[in-house]
Amino acid sequence: MLIDAHCHLANNQELAQLQIKQQIKAIINCQTTEEWQINSKLTLHRQPLSFGIHPWDVNKLKFEEIVPYLEQADAVGEIGLDSVWTKNDIKLQTKTFRKQLAWAAKKQKPVILHTKGCEKEILAIIRQYPNNYFVHWYDCLKYQKDYIDLGCYFSICLDILDNPTIIKLAQNVPLDHLLIETDGLNSVEWLLNKPVSIADYPGILKQTLTALADLRHINSNRLATIIGENLTHFLRQAK
Ligand SMILES: [Zn+2]
Repeated sequence: MLIDAHCHLANNQELAQLQIKQQIKAIINCQTTEEWQINSKLTLHRQPLSFGIHPWDVNKLKFEEIVPYLEQADAVGEIGLDSVWTKNDIKLQTKTFRKQLAWAAKKQKPVILHTKGCEKEILAIIRQYPNNYFVHWYDCLKYQKDYIDLGCYFSICLDILDNPTIIKLAQNVPLDHLLIETDGLNSVEWLLNKPVSIADYPGILKQTLTALADLRHINSNRLATIIGENLTHFLRQAK
């Protein structure tokens, strides 16, 4: 079974249907209340959904208005801090991030993290809110061991093919904390710098799985099973 631990559907019904038809288990991310309604319908309630205020959206959503959605979500995310791709005030980002972390820790909902440029700050903050964490597309050479030692899960994307930072991470994360993600087709197009069709989607996940299996000297079917179990363990509410 293929896993996509972090995926944006971007209103793509065909992709949602393909995932269900091919039994690809995907955590579908929702960044707005509208996207939550759309994704609930597109996935026929058969995929886990994550919901959270993305650091890019801290000016658009208030914590209080998303609580009813967090209550229903399988995971809180993607949430975090970003000093590279947004000009949003870092103080507001941090305040919004902490509110969601505190809520998630109290309710024992697992959390998906976006860490761009703020890896050090996030590491210090999440230590204060013990929980199940999964760091998506961690593209930083620093603090990898610190996050691993904290028991975080990591998702590896197609960037494993030629990004030395991702390769180093993929070599060091314990097998029982590895996940695979696409981050959605738009991210794959951005990464490959070319259009990608929906028909390519299963192949992208397989290519990522094969590269990871080769790197870890493990049979890819065996790795697929382990990653499926890891996703279940991550989603199981924190103890
Ligand atoms: Zn994402």
